[in-house]
Amino acid sequence: MVRERIADDIYVFTSRQYAQVTAGAIMTKEGVVLIDTLFFPEETKEIRDFLEGRLGLTVKYVINTHYHADHSQGTYLFPHAQVASHRLCRELLDTVGREGLVEAKTQMPELEEVDIVLPDLVYDDGIMNLYVGGKTIQLHHFPGHSLDISAVFIADERILFASDNTMPVPTIFDGGYQHLVNSMHGMLALNPDTVVSGHGEVMLRGEVVARIEDDLAYLEAIKTAVTRVIERGQSPDALKRINIEDCGKSRIPLNGLVVDLHYANLQRLYEELTQN
Ligand SMILES: [Zn+2]
Repeated sequence: MVRERIADDIYVFTSRQYAQVTAGAIMTKEGVVLIDTLFFPEETKEIRDFLEGRLGLTVKYVINTHYHADHSQGTYLFPHAQVASHRLCRELLDTVGREGLVEAKTQMPELEEVDIVLPDLVYDDGIMNLYVGGKTIQLHHFPGHSLDISAVFIADERILFASDNTMPVPTIFDGGYQHLVNSMHGMLALNPDTVVSGHGEVMLRGEVVARIEDDLAYLEAIKTAVTRVIERGQSPDALKRINIEDCGKSRIPLNGLVVDLHYANLQRLYEELTQN
């Protein structure tokens, strides 16, 4: 786990073991608000030891930005915290998340002690505000990467935790194409100075707008390419010839995992566009 201080009272933790997944900690006078956890208990314990051991703080809230295991699986390590999420995240954790954990435990003994924890503080639409220790922390329902995403905005510092709606390549295969486009515009409208992505490096002041516009350009490019395949009456096999670089993204980040994500996007978009 790599620790980075992005403001006086905000840390970002990036996994060394799992796809550079990130978590964040906002320190307030009343305790810490933890945004997500990491995939492996060992790394989430490092976060806990740092915050509660070394800094002597209490984690008061854990926010689950969405139900995917690499973001939510460490929640059980904070049994005294209140857990907040969108209502759909709670439902997905209780169903898909539970099944996924049973399956994962058969493959990975290090997950043995992991338990699903359901959020006890949920909202349905729009925004939920948490007022903690003099700070306003907003959860914005921004479906896209998955349908249950909450992006977390710390208004005073203009820092946005975008969760997996921003990654080295945008992903729609567990969410929806138009949802993600709309949510990206929603994120731009918040006018953040700094954006913490769900995976990979933090976007710094001055590069936020360009990076999100680059993601929107990628989404536009895959739509054009997939539409062409459909208009020519080609089978989904033709999607294999649409490479990531032609859509404006590098194939290198996340140790090349982005290429698989790109093809999953094309498949999903083909299904979306041929359903209607
Ligand atoms: Zn995810």
